[in-house]
Amino acid sequence: MAKNPEYGLLIDYEYCTGCYACQVACAQEYKWPEGMGGMRVIEMEQKLPNKKAYLSFLPFPTELCILCAPRTREGRLPACVSTCMAACMKYGRIEELAEELKKKPRQVLWVPRA
Ligand code: SF4
Ligand code: SF4
Repeated sequence: MAKNPEYGLLIDYEYCTGCYACQVACAQEYKWPEGMGGMRVIEMEQKLPNKKAYLSFLPFPTELCILCAPRTREGRLPACVSTCMAACMKYGRIEELAEELKKKPRQVLWVPRA
């Protein structure tokens, strides 16, 4: 399915709660079998001094992400974006998302393979 190479996802994982709703939304939208899907929420535990740890989550598109081409063609947001209650993801033109990326840390800009 053709993806629009000018568009991508800006992922602000600072406020990701690890609820997995984006991963589930993608799997349901495209009826992926268990264990497959366009979105994978990655759990990262960073060890800190004094036996402390910092847990964070990174929602990251997989090779199966088609950037919701059928939805965006109809003017709808990608399923993962519209499902995230914490508004961690933005869909848009790569140049605009790249400008947003400069404004704060803990963000990732994902662009689909052409
Ligand atoms: S990106 Fe949003 S929907 Fe996905 S796990 Fe994080 S908080 Fe949940
Ligand atoms: S943009 Fe669409 S296909 Fe890609 S991860 Fe999000 S829901 Fe899945």
